[in-house]
Amino acid sequence: MAKKQFKAESKRLLGLMIDSIYTHKEIFLRELISNASDAIDKLCYQSLTEGNVGLDRSDFFIRVAVDENGRTITVSDNGIGMTSEELDENLGVIARSGSLGFKEAMDKEKAADSEIDVIGQFGVGFYSAFMIAEKVTVTTKKYGTDQAYVWESTGADGYSITAGEKESFGTEIVLTVKPDSEEEKYSDFLQEWRLRELIKKYSDYVRYPIKMGEDTVNSMVPIWQRSKSEASEEDCIKFYKEKFYAMEDPLKVIRVNVEGSVSYRALLFVPASAPYNYYSRDYEAGLQLYASGVLIMDKCKDLLPECFRFVQGVVDSPDLSLNISRELLQHDRQLKIIAANLEKKVKNELKKLMTEDAEHYAEFYKAFGLQLKYGLLNNYGEKRELLEDLLMFYSSKEEKAIALSDYVAAMPEEQKYIYYACGDTVARLSKLPQAEPIREKGWSILYLTDEVDEFVMNMLGSYQEKELKNVISSDLGLGEEGDKEKLEEQEKANEAMLTFIKEKLEGAVSSVKLSATLKSAPACLGTQGEITLEMEKYFASIPGSGEKIKAERVLELNPGHPVFESLIRAYTGDPEKAAKYAKLLYYEALLYAGVTIPDPAEFANLISDLMV
Ligand code: ADP
Repeated sequence: MAKKQFKAESKRLLGLMIDSIYTHKEIFLRELISNASDAIDKLCYQSLTEGNVGLDRSDFFIRVAVDENGRTITVSDNGIGMTSEELDENLGVIARSGSLGFKEAMDKEKAADSEIDVIGQFGVGFYSAFMIAEKVTVTTKKYGTDQAYVWESTGADGYSITAGEKESFGTEIVLTVKPDSEEEKYSDFLQEWRLRELIKKYSDYVRYPIKMGEDTVNSMVPIWQRSKSEASEEDCIKFYKEKFYAMEDPLKVIRVNVEGSVSYRALLFVPASAPYNYYSRDYEAGLQLYASGVLIMDKCKDLLPECFRFVQGVVDSPDLSLNISRELLQHDRQLKIIAANLEKKVKNELKKLMTEDAEHYAEFYKAFGLQLKYGLLNNYGEKRELLEDLLMFYSSKEEKAIALSDYVAAMPEEQKYIYYACGDTVARLSKLPQAEPIREKGWSILYLTDEVDEFVMNMLGSYQEKELKNVISSDLGLGEEGDKEKLEEQEKANEAMLTFIKEKLEGAVSSVKLSATLKSAPACLGTQGEITLEMEKYFASIPGSGEKIKAERVLELNPGHPVFESLIRAYTGDPEKAAKYAKLLYYEALLYAGVTIPDPAEFANLISDLMV
């Protein structure tokens, strides 16, 4: 009998498939099993709609058998089978999908509430057999017909279809495995344990039993397909620890079950602590993605935003195509819808944890707070709305970390701004001269001790329409505006002295001015322009960017402080002494600000001089 030729396009695809790299080859079994499962789905569907099949769901199974000496692997099912026309149509053309046609027909029937779901819309599945087989023989008998047919092909040279013998309906696919070559050891696939491993890995949750010998290899119903009453929280935690090799219980278990234009189930976990490599490049984020119980990707990054990359878990949807191309998956509309839903879901769950279980949230925040902050800074604050409610900062008044919303809720009416101060410890910040006037009002200040905090505040700018204000700003909204005139007068009167001080500091500061808000401290160090001292410190800590980024320093003096009087007296009577005072005050301001003194020996000498 004359061989039929594959269509030209198919030939090319087939070639690509056959030459694919070894790690891809193992998916052949997943593809054949998934086709078998589809074929059973179709017969089940028929039995549901026509009611004359006389078969029960429990009668269906898939069988995988191996003959090491004969070098064959056989995958058989008792699904719907194919007629000779269907064989020709379905297995003669690659990338043309019978399942898709079936699905469309089904949609038309509006059988939305039936149990059936059909995977594999891309139609490359079956041909993956040629990655490991030199010959593929399909013997099939359509349900309700008497004649069986045999389709046979050795690859790109075409295929033949002949009448054949088969006792019962369904399909049997025999792969004659290629001989081993130098690069590829195809015999691996002839090991029974290897096939069992592949079934476990890719097809564990296929809903029909996959039998090898007497055993059913797959576990069929995944935990995320079970309802809350069928799978307890403890079951989920056990699953988490086994699946993700976790030592501790997760902080939060999130179950999602969505039915709609895109249906899916997800079982997600927020880990209790960051893996040791979490903030390094080695950490691989992503959720396991299944299509109707068939694993299609182990670490699907596109399911969660970068800022939630700590979340682990699985997503399973009957609406996804069993498609080997990651590139295509990235643009998948369904996947995008799922990702958008999951993002919201994770946020809400974290928010709930924050309000209902502060202790665990604090634990979470310790592990992943930094991730949220980086997430906020990424892409010009693209995820701001998602993340701003999840942030927490130490409040001077509450003496613990609080949410921005709690800060705003506790603000007295006359307080205009949300105040914050940046530095390396809470202890130092609580003594920052610039913080004193605000604390004296009885208002709370957020003490920010993470390097990225100040950038986060700059990115936010405001929260719930309240402007965020660094305490080192000049306009703190404390009513100091009223004293502005007086301050200007004082500055004018002391102009010569302020210029003198600036000169004596030899370029260390860009200006010297008076402060209307300082209380008990004689001086403090402020900045002008975009770069603050904390930012300068941060940049200095990054190799490379180092020295270049400098804050423009402003020495602010407290005209109400007795030291100011001494300064004036010295300036008029003993300018040399005034120059020393200027340096001392500058060094003092540096100390308050937590900046290292450039010349400690000089500082020590100045103090000794003063004592003598
Ligand atoms: P896909 O499954 O993505 O449509 P395949 O190339 O894997 O593409 O299969 C092509 C078609 O062949 C399927 O859509 C189905 O109609 C038919 N087919 C494959 N395997 C079987 C089987 N075991 N039983 C019945 N039909 C099958």
